[in-house]
Amino acid sequence: GGLRDTGGRSAPPRAAQGVPAAATTLTEALSWHVQVHPDRQHVRVLRDDDDEILSFGDLHRSAAVVAAGLQARGVRPRDTVALMLPTSGDYFTSFTGVLLAGGIPVPIYPPARPSQLADHLRRQVSILDNARAAALITEPAAARFERLVRSHVPSLRNVLTPAELHDHGQAGPVDRGPADVALLQYTSGSTGNPKGVVLTHANLLSNIRAMAQAARVSTSDVFISWLPLYHDMGLIGAWLSCLYLGHQLVIMPPSAFLTRPARWLWAIHTHRGTLSAAPNFAYELCLREIDRSELDGLDLSSWRIAFNGAEPVHADTLHRFTERFQPYGFQPAAMVPAYGLAEACVGLTFPPAGRGPVVDRVARAEFERSGQALPAASDDPDPLAYVACGIPLVGHEIRIVSRTGSELGDRQEGRIEFRGPSATQGYFRNPQETHALIRHGWLDTSDLGYLDAGELYVTGRVKDLIIRAGRNLHPEELEAAVGDLPGIRNGCVVAFASTGRGDEPERFIVIAETPQTEPAVLAGLRERITATAIDLFDVAPDDVVLAPLGSVPKTPSGKIRRTASRESYERGTISAPPRSLSWQRARS
Ligand code: ATP
Ligand code: MG
Repeated sequence: GGLRDTGGRSAPPRAAQGVPAAATTLTEALSWHVQVHPDRQHVRVLRDDDDEILSFGDLHRSAAVVAAGLQARGVRPRDTVALMLPTSGDYFTSFTGVLLAGGIPVPIYPPARPSQLADHLRRQVSILDNARAAALITEPAAARFERLVRSHVPSLRNVLTPAELHDHGQAGPVDRGPADVALLQYTSGSTGNPKGVVLTHANLLSNIRAMAQAARVSTSDVFISWLPLYHDMGLIGAWLSCLYLGHQLVIMPPSAFLTRPARWLWAIHTHRGTLSAAPNFAYELCLREIDRSELDGLDLSSWRIAFNGAEPVHADTLHRFTERFQPYGFQPAAMVPAYGLAEACVGLTFPPAGRGPVVDRVARAEFERSGQALPAASDDPDPLAYVACGIPLVGHEIRIVSRTGSELGDRQEGRIEFRGPSATQGYFRNPQETHALIRHGWLDTSDLGYLDAGELYVTGRVKDLIIRAGRNLHPEELEAAVGDLPGIRNGCVVAFASTGRGDEPERFIVIAETPQTEPAVLAGLRERITATAIDLFDVAPDDVVLAPLGSVPKTPSGKIRRTASRESYERGTISAPPRSLSWQRARS
């Protein structure tokens, strides 16, 4: 095929393809790269001083050392090993070392600040405990809390730093097969507690291969990422894809992007990045935070695919981002909205390569009443706009079903279900949620959407719909509109229905973050939010809460937690200082 090997060496025939086609596990893929082109650059971690560069050979050597250290500490095949490390060379070698030792890595997110370590660790206890973690690999500062963590997690035999795993010689690698578990990927916790998605090597490889086919990835691609490595999009979509396919990853920690979003774009410029991915909020952050003076000489023409996924995609963001960065070489067709979830490893639907974004305008009243997505008339002053998120990856199927489970026709909103080789067999030690997830061989995403010409339009989450007078109101839409009001922090607005106590009727609540404190200004903002809701929904909120920056609960991957917001509102603690720091907030 047209795949090009940029390793600069003459390679055996199979290498002409550039990917280890015969590999059945991640570790086999790594061995193949080590054999064929050990010196090829695999990961570059961008740093203020010297970048950290790992070739495939470096990764394998250091990971084998970690594997020996883990075995010396009593970690056995199939043991779960939690990783709580920032984006660094140590992360990649520790993760790979766990695999070489036959263990199962469980990435969890590192604390934003050392001062929050004890609280942070307490919050991770439920994941460590659910995962039955046998060991935790973390930074020295966190390892000092070993007693605290072990007292809550009985399975935990070791809390280790990467340095403590050295000097145990080389381990004999433990053979794993495609059906063996390769990873526990915890979900973000948008709708409740994070659930440990069990992913096998076969799941991961089929997802990575299918995504590569849809996006026409070759070894000459360069993936630029600032996404966290404990979330599926950064871990599987960015890194593990590079580990299997052999193209390069250039990565910085999330905080580097969040404190100065222009760093992302300049990394694409400097390293001639071709692929990158981010949730919608990140494209918004670029629009809001990057000053024209930071863009002198920027050239984004190498950027082939800008994936937008992991949270609702806004047509308006795609449009404004393209308009703003086209003068710097950004290609309009590079914008690629995609849909996926941890239960499918990461990707599930991708648009046809090279097509560019498609937006569907839908007549509002009928959609809210019956879920039928009729195309809006050309003179409709107030249509809904949904972004096309693509067709199922090769080997996968999706369907839309009604509340009673019957399959629905085109342009009819319902639950999105899927099946295929990337689909998980369930959640780790969580039979109840697993039972709710899998029915008759199909997985229920708990997301809402409709299909048109085989393409998926995602409209919301089942749990988050606000039902008013027989109409389905989609909170995301109001949140986006309120976020656009001057004085309101975009992406930090949440709308939900609160069930009143006793016989009280359900109430419709909007919470919006603002830096303003002046009472007169707040009163004006409240009025504008109410007017926006009436405009969109014909319903005035029963309560509008203006809260300080950092009040709206979010997942570590930066998503709004509507259920948690409702609970916090009902407890009366919504404007209290934020309890959990997400990477999105590392900036405040
Ligand atoms: P939890 O399952 O713990 O509540 P989560 O569902 O947010 O958290 P992830 O698996 O990280 O955890 O995210 C997948 C979800 O993200 C999808 O189910 C969907 O709700 C949302 N999502 C992903 N891509 C899109 C998209 N293109 N448009 C709208 N929503 C999306
Ligand atoms: Mg989910």
